[in-house]
Amino acid sequence: MNAEPDRAPLKICRHCSLGSRTDAERCPSCGKPYRRRVWRWWFAIPIVVLAFAIGYFARKEIAGDEEAEPAGLTIAEARGMPIGTAQAAVDGVLDGQRPDRVKRSSGGGNELVCRLYAVVDEERTAWEFCFLDGALEVSRPHRF
Ligand SMILES: [Zn+2]
Repeated sequence: MNAEPDRAPLKICRHCSLGSRTDAERCPSCGKPYRRRVWRWWFAIPIVVLAFAIGYFARKEIAGDEEAEPAGLTIAEARGMPIGTAQAAVDGVLDGQRPDRVKRSSGGGNELVCRLYAVVDEERTAWEFCFLDGALEVSRPHRF
């Protein structure tokens, strides 16, 4: 099939207003491109910001529906702490809570450090964590 020149779309140049039937991307009269560059990289910024905002508020919504995890040691956290857990990991669930009592006992060159924490979501209950060489050795409830 022969390409017919008049089948080419009529394009109006927005620079010189000349209409031309052409397949060219540029105006044959002034040489400027017909197509407006619609996309700019910075168009992505509000989209990204919006996406983050939606994600943030969606997460906040979910968190708001659930009961907030109380600061400090909860009974579930205390019970779920396996023996041998690193002291730093245990400290992570304490949310900065200070021990009510610290007891150190040495034996055989190793120092056992026992810390007593009040359990925040169960009344009259404390939990004793004892660490030997930075790892959890003893984990048990302590009732008053
Ligand atoms: Zn033109």
